[in-house]
Amino acid sequence: MSECLFCKIVAKEIPAEIVHETGRTLAFRDINPQAPTHVLVVPKQHHADAAALAKADDGLADDVLKTAHDVAVQEGVAEEGYRIVFNTGPGAGQTVFHVHAHVLGGRSLTWPPG
Ligand code: 5GP
Ligand code: ZN
Repeated sequence: MSECLFCKIVAKEIPAEIVHETGRTLAFRDINPQAPTHVLVVPKQHHADAAALAKADDGLADDVLKTAHDVAVQEGVAEEGYRIVFNTGPGAGQTVFHVHAHVLGGRSLTWPPG
């Protein structure tokens, strides 16, 4: 996946503000934050979207969710509440086709989202 932006961030070929790393996941701040805490959590292995990640069925989706929660704790937003979003497909606003969980918090979040 040599042309994938998030694979390049995982490979440290493109800089990012990394906030958390495990053997199988990487978390870094979104370049265009939509909340005081806006971190992207990716599996290091390339999967296009949440459906592909789930289909892999090898525990990686669990790892991404665990890392998302660990990031929320680390950022101090876990108690007040935070949101984990997987935009899946262009109609939902997905623009980078390497699955990523948005971890959003630090302000009150309205529902339904736009
Ligand atoms: P999507 O729209 O696919 O759900 O989310 C992609 C996210 O990646 C966007 O929120 C966008 O701001 C972020 N993003 C795009 N390019 C970069 C980049 O080069 N570095 C970082 N840290 N975030 C990026
Ligand atoms: Zn990728």
